Amino acid sequence: MSVLVFVENIEGKFKKSAFEVVSYAKTIANTLNQKLTAISIGDVSDTALESLGKYGANKILNVNSEKLKSFINQAYASIITQAAKQEEATIIVLSNSFSGKGLAPRIAAKMEAGLADGAVGLPEINENNFRIKKTAFSGKAFALTELTSVIKVIALNPNSFELRDEITTPEITTFEADLHSQDFNTIVKEIVRTTDKISLPDAEIVVSGGRGLKGPENWGIIEDLANALGAATACSKPVSDAGWRPHEEHVGQTGIAVSPNLYIAIGISGAIQHLAGVSSSKTIVVINKDPEAPFFKVADYGIVGDAFEIVPKITSAIKALKE
Ligand code: FAD
Repeated sequence: MSVLVFVENIEGKFKKSAFEVVSYAKTIANTLNQKLTAISIGDVSDTALESLGKYGANKILNVNSEKLKSFINQAYASIITQAAKQEEATIIVLSNSFSGKGLAPRIAAKMEAGLADGAVGLPEINENNFRIKKTAFSGKAFALTELTSVIKVIALNPNSFELRDEITTPEITTFEADLHSQDFNTIVKEIVRTTDKISLPDAEIVVSGGRGLKGPENWGIIEDLANALGAATACSKPVSDAGWRPHEEHVGQTGIAVSPNLYIAIGISGAIQHLAGVSSSKTIVVINKDPEAPFFKVADYGIVGDAFEIVPKITSAIKALKE
């Protein structure tokens, strides 16, 4: 028996969440006294694959084919399922990313496995129980879920597990999956990059603006702070609905869910639908001129005042610290 972890890459480079899932899965494998196998799909160099050894991968299955360069849900789910069967994996770990959210239920269905998606902690494992904490109701609550199936699939929320170094020298082998035409019902024809900015779901720091910014012409203060911090930019729903910012930046219940280490909310009231997508951020800083703004109730740090005065001062201070 073993633990299998799927590691995602973007254009051959592993995402930070890939190292997180390896580190997380290794901790589970150690608890169960099992080996950890990682599966990578796409064109990834040996050096990049070897880097998974920093977090404890014992074996790496490498699947590289021109047809699989882009993410294809059905094909990837089929490959991971076949690898899990070959490795006799009873636990399969993925990131709860865009791709992971599509893959995890498919793999669970194929393997007749229990699924914990949006996991935020290590499972409590004993002879009778396998309990895992996960987010529920769009991040408004946590649920302690018990997986009673023999095979278990866990989709770990990005940025919810600290990396733990555990050096191994992984054995890298090529994995040949048996794929059929139905695995390619969807074909990616072209990928159009809309921005070169840091991807929002993967960002460690997010600077987000709301209607308090008054209009798109004022977004410079958000961009400047984000640039100074190496952060991604986000916004509330009315801001993207009004066309001030692109829809890809809208976070919340109906937008992207983020869980960065630091979320800075500027001129955002903190409506429940907004909080649903950001409340699992590690540290929340709120800047709002209304001391009664609901966002302050969930903030770790709050500044009451005018964003147009405060934000440029913070940006200057950060730039000065860097010099
Ligand atoms: P406002 O509520 O108008 O708040 C602006 C804030 O800026 C205020 O708190 C004000 O005090 C502050 N402010 C004003 N001027 C300044 C200044 N100079 N300096 C500092 N602060 C200032 N919203 C989302 O964001 N994401 C979602 O996914 C989402 N999904 C929804 C789904 C449904 C079904 C519904 C009904 C609503 C949804 N909403 C969502 C909308 C949500 O209910 C709120 O209306 C929205 O989040 C409010 O956006 P806001 O905070 O930017 O604007």
